[in-house]
Amino acid sequence: MRTDLRHGDGRRLFVYGRYDGQQPPSSLPEEGPPELHLRHDALTDRWVAISPARNTRPQSRAGHDDTAPACPLCPGGPELAFPYDAAVFENRFPTLLPSPPRPPQLEGPTAPSQGRCEVVLYTPTHEGSLATLTSQELAQVVAIWTDRSRELWSDPTHAYVLIFENRGEDVGATLSHPHGQIYALDHIPALARARVHALEAHRDRHGSCLTCEVVQRDEGAKQRILAENDSFTVAVPFAANWPYEIHVRAKRHGAHRMSDLTVTERHDLAMALRTVVRIYDRFRPGHPLAYMMVCQEAPASASGGPAGDWHLSFEFLPPNRASDKLKVRASVETAAGLFINDTVPEVSAAQLAAVSTDPEGAVEAPIPDVEVALAASVSHPDVS
Ligand SMILES: [Zn+2]
Ligand SMILES: [Zn+2]
Repeated sequence: MRTDLRHGDGRRLFVYGRYDGQQPPSSLPEEGPPELHLRHDALTDRWVAISPARNTRPQSRAGHDDTAPACPLCPGGPELAFPYDAAVFENRFPTLLPSPPRPPQLEGPTAPSQGRCEVVLYTPTHEGSLATLTSQELAQVVAIWTDRSRELWSDPTHAYVLIFENRGEDVGATLSHPHGQIYALDHIPALARARVHALEAHRDRHGSCLTCEVVQRDEGAKQRILAENDSFTVAVPFAANWPYEIHVRAKRHGAHRMSDLTVTERHDLAMALRTVVRIYDRFRPGHPLAYMMVCQEAPASASGGPAGDWHLSFEFLPPNRASDKLKVRASVETAAGLFINDTVPEVSAAQLAAVSTDPEGAVEAPIPDVEVALAASVSHPDVS
């Protein structure tokens, strides 16, 4: 069940599961930062988001004061003042806004920072990860992604939706509470455009789906594949950029976005994601590997609908080049886009495969069916 609320400052808040009827804390609407805007880099045909307010984001504090938990995402904190199972709220420090300030008139092209930035709270429990969530919590997170994805893609002001998670200080996560984010953009960013172009070029040349071919290659690559189930492959990609990169890719042609998945596929996705994060947790005992996790959903093709040959994938990008060493994305990677992988993908896959099975062999509850039913909105008395 989803209950729609609003913070006192007007930001949307969706509570999933239990809701005890308490209102979010009342606070005055905050002015969006006036500096927020996009600038067009004419030489690369890419947009750059100017978002100086991000530098004032909160960090987890070590201690507690008397009135609030140290973590702003824990129940009782400033974001969720009441008990919750899982929740989504609009970021207090957004890079994109549904009603952005008018962009400044400058010597080059600018645009409003149009879009949405949401935070997804996986669990009320402060410690943990996708690997340690209960089966019920994990199924609920997948259901929430499906719910938010469906709604954000269906908004005509959005051209692209990115579900993602930055885990760990090594990738800049400032809060350790298990959570992810979703950005909805008003344009298709350059890397996604390049992927769509590759699929279309392959279709023109060969009359077949390039992603189906990649799935088949991964299934046959016994040295790179780490796990699979009926719906997803779990593999170090053939041309991994990052040494310990792992992709979870939908096998079924037609599974373009989260909302295309069947109930069985959602179960299989949950199991696959749990498998990957457990590998990263075991890889360096006591120090779970940091990662960027991005959910690649099909952007619109030239004809309007989701790009037909795009298969949904979850791609995990840890910033390490060895278990105890970070890779710096340096000049060649950044300026030329030529990634230099410090390992052979088959070798890093063997290292990851070595920790891919649970030494304890614990039996776990099966992933339950979780559907999100929409409840009536609850309006906040301070918001008209
Ligand atoms: Zn917390
Ligand atoms: Zn396909």
